[in-house]
Amino acid sequence: MPLFQKASYSISVAKPLDPYPRSCAEIAFAGRSNAGKSSAINALAGQRRLAFVSKRPGRTQMINFFSLGEDRFLVDLPGYGFATAPGATRSQWDRLLGTYLKHRDALKGIALVMDIRHPFTELDLQLIDFFGQTEKPIHILLTKADKLSQARAGIVLRDAAATLARLSPRHSVQLFSSLKHRGVEEAEAVFSRWLGLQASARQESKKPGPQNRPRVNFNTRGRNKKPRAKGG
Ligand code: GDP
Repeated sequence: MPLFQKASYSISVAKPLDPYPRSCAEIAFAGRSNAGKSSAINALAGQRRLAFVSKRPGRTQMINFFSLGEDRFLVDLPGYGFATAPGATRSQWDRLLGTYLKHRDALKGIALVMDIRHPFTELDLQLIDFFGQTEKPIHILLTKADKLSQARAGIVLRDAAATLARLSPRHSVQLFSSLKHRGVEEAEAVFSRWLGLQASARQESKKPGPQNRPRVNFNTRGRNKKPRAKGG
């Protein structure tokens, strides 16, 4: 069963002092607007529209909580596109997110979604730097990997791993494609561990087809490993 299959919308938080749900473990998804964050959450949940709840008017600048049951949550953070908002709104946003990221004990780590064609934007780096101070891990999903050839995707992955290795040994990175449903199990393994849940026992279909072709689809722990171009 996909890790987030049971996820259902719970609550949105707009201000630092608003009530937060009681939680023992949660993972927050961050990323630039249009990076593919909602699609990645939906792919991990095996649900088509789950994360689009966060895109409803009024919720785009909020922290949106999705319950996984057993006091665990998936948390959808506002896309960074909003960081270009005017000063007063922006600082309110900074306060909300800053408080959440720095002080939320239940937050076990961040899933940072980056479009593989535009990794490590200035705002991504700011988030890595800011959250890195908590000494919690960040797992990067280089999504839309289907937009690049396997060879090119492997090079971007290797470069990203090298960049991360310079920043922190806690962080990790993998290729991901919501469209092709690739990288889902690798991501589930990381997030299950963070949440203290058993990894998904889901098996991919063994039938031949595009999804079972050799793929560049591997996880690296933020060290400068050489990518394997085949297998997975
Ligand atoms: P968000 O703003 O970060 O939540 O981004 P969305 O999930 O809404 O995706 C933005 C656009 O990228 C949409 O047109 C998606 O269909 C497309 N997209 C998202 N993930 C993928 C992917 O893995 N592969 C491809 N080819 N397109 C994707």
